[in-house]
Amino acid sequence: MTQRGQTFRNGSLDDHDSADDALAAAPGDQVVRVAVGVPVDRAFDYVTGGFGPLDRGTIVTVPFGPRQLNGIVLGPGDRNTARESLKAVIRCAPLPPVSDAFVQFIERVTAWTMAPIGSVAKMALSQPKALLPPPQQKLYRRPAQPPEGEKLTTARQRVAAVLDAAGAMPSPLLQREAGVSAGVIGGMERAGSLESILVASDQPPPRPGRLQGPALTDDQQVAAAAIAETLEGGFMPFLLDGVTGSGKTEVYFDAVQRVLDAGRQVLILLPEIALSAAWKARFAERFGVMPQEWHSDVGAGEKRKLWRFALSGEASVVVGARSALFLPFADLGLIVVDEEHEHAYKQEDKVIYQARDMAVLRARLESCPVILASATPSLESWVNAGMVGDPPRYRRVVLPSRVGKATLPEITAVDMRRTPPERGRWLAPPLVAALTDRLERGEQSLLFLNRRGYAPLTLCGSCGHKLTCPNCDSWMVMHRLAGRMRCHHCGFEARPSRDCSQCGEEDSMQACGPGVERLAEEVLQRFPEARFGVFSSDTVASPGSAETFVSSVMAGEVDIIIGTQMVAKGHHFPNLTFVGIVDADLGLAGGDLRAAERSFQMLAQVAGRAGRAEQPGLAMLQTVDADNAVMQALLSGNRDAFLKSESEARRLAAMPPYSRLAALLISARDEARLRDAIRQLELCRPQFNGVGIFGPNLAPLAFLRGQHRARALVQAEKNIDIQAVINGWIESVYLPSGVRLQIDIDPYNFL
Ligand code: ADP
Ligand code: ZN
Repeated sequence: MTQRGQTFRNGSLDDHDSADDALAAAPGDQVVRVAVGVPVDRAFDYVTGGFGPLDRGTIVTVPFGPRQLNGIVLGPGDRNTARESLKAVIRCAPLPPVSDAFVQFIERVTAWTMAPIGSVAKMALSQPKALLPPPQQKLYRRPAQPPEGEKLTTARQRVAAVLDAAGAMPSPLLQREAGVSAGVIGGMERAGSLESILVASDQPPPRPGRLQGPALTDDQQVAAAAIAETLEGGFMPFLLDGVTGSGKTEVYFDAVQRVLDAGRQVLILLPEIALSAAWKARFAERFGVMPQEWHSDVGAGEKRKLWRFALSGEASVVVGARSALFLPFADLGLIVVDEEHEHAYKQEDKVIYQARDMAVLRARLESCPVILASATPSLESWVNAGMVGDPPRYRRVVLPSRVGKATLPEITAVDMRRTPPERGRWLAPPLVAALTDRLERGEQSLLFLNRRGYAPLTLCGSCGHKLTCPNCDSWMVMHRLAGRMRCHHCGFEARPSRDCSQCGEEDSMQACGPGVERLAEEVLQRFPEARFGVFSSDTVASPGSAETFVSSVMAGEVDIIIGTQMVAKGHHFPNLTFVGIVDADLGLAGGDLRAAERSFQMLAQVAGRAGRAEQPGLAMLQTVDADNAVMQALLSGNRDAFLKSESEARRLAAMPPYSRLAALLISARDEARLRDAIRQLELCRPQFNGVGIFGPNLAPLAFLRGQHRARALVQAEKNIDIQAVINGWIESVYLPSGVRLQIDIDPYNFL
């Protein structure tokens, strides 16, 4: 099987083992194959020059065209290449090689995603500064033997006294502590009364301790024991399936504790948005230290250190977003993927990968367990746990009820055809009554609408002209708080106007449909005395402001939260007892492969915010289609029946997880070139039994961020190597310049 990223001009990865006799040419010199961290589709051969034989996993700097780039040694190169034609390794990083499991991970991710191996290597080498010698710090101390006849001035005596107590110190601190100038310290050094030493200035993170967590409930104990008994036994995937608030976190903390006790490393993946201050505080409460974090808000300096400490083994627990999977852990003993159903685990640009699936792959290569945790498992994981009769590949561990007195919320539907809101309003009478009731009782409510801004569409009442983005096939969304019109695809902004740019009619532009800001307007009109806050990525743009918002809710300073999917995740508001879902049908519109599943997960998670403490919770779904399978599953609380019928539908339609799917996304700035590329791909389209190829056709979003776009979908029976099919297809295609082809294995996005 040939795959993109593993085809090399000078041979293939498979004939490595016998390449050793190439060493004969120059003692110590060797040809190695290097995955260079740059988006190219193959690895390159170099001679090792004065560095002698280099192990697989060694990180090197090599010449690449006019540049010097970092790369990872994959193994011996092609013994038949004339050495004179090869360039030499410039530098070896002063680090131990990354593990063989990690190099395999890079190779397997490349093969699976069909991304260029250089792009995957680049993710693995994301912190170039971590590859340099670590920064050192100059410390001053008293010499063991002070100079004979040393006489110290009072200032010098103060310095000596500080150091006698503290041992060694950097100059600025010493100056401050002793109340002296830099000149005094310099003078003492020259006189031999002080000596300086160089030490690494990066302090390894503190080791997590072992604090008392809550005593586990009976259910939690059973779950924790089931996981504990396999922790030393190599690869083992778990589905930790427990309703919202059932105490899943405590169960995986128990496993984390055991792995730490064994001296091994742990990686906990969270969707970025769920990595809240509350989660970190909980971790700190349990382990006595803050977790080492890895996500887009962590600064470069911290990342540099963490990368190194992952490799040295000194970072014992890392909690991070999906990119933390590409850290070079020395000895991984456990991976946890919390909220495993979250679509945020799918990375959609550059290397397109599903972090949950790659976490399972990494665990397999590291021979360690992996825990996938969710209250609303993905259909894939649920099927993998053997829930529809296929042989189970994951072990399922269940937490059936909420911890303590908390119960699951009651969920009811509000039929928007029978009890609609008044004209120009969005909240139906039953929701208004429930809000009123909670306000009177001093309890909190959440109104959920997964739509940012004020109104999703603005059109001219006179000619019907719709405001659209100049760079995309999409409507401009009105953001009243910011006083802007915004495109949610490319970020294009414009000033709102009351007049129609098309027909010139004055004051004719009308906002259509609600966003969270418009709901806030209605809440203000209906409940002028209520304290409310809008929680969306526009109003709460940074982690810091999210934390401020969360703590003001916790402090009881907010009566009504109005939020998008940002509030659906992980928050635990004990006094929140009512959730109103304003448009439960929204996620079903458009209907891609996972629309029903995603909609169910989102609504179940949002509803799960209600009644997490003593007070029982209530959730209301405003819908025009209460008979829909998603609504029925929510109303009856029968999640498994829904997943069963959904998996049956997928089986009948030969869709994942019962088949394999891949998308080809073709894009170009120039429309004619895109059409040319489509023609080329059509001409070369292969035919195989068990493989269906649809398209390429113009994409539903045919114009996005200034690019014209087309898509093709490849659907294959499960036993077919879909990567090989695609490779065979595109290998023979000559794409016009300026046309970009991306491959998306197991796509989640069909736009
Ligand atoms: P999940 O991750 O399943 O949503 P959590 O682990 O967040 O659930 O637990 C829900 C709440 O119950 C949290 O406030 C947590 O501190 C509390 N909790 C969990 N386990 C216990 C326990 N054994 N005893 C007391 N409280 C617990
Ligand atoms: Zn746009």
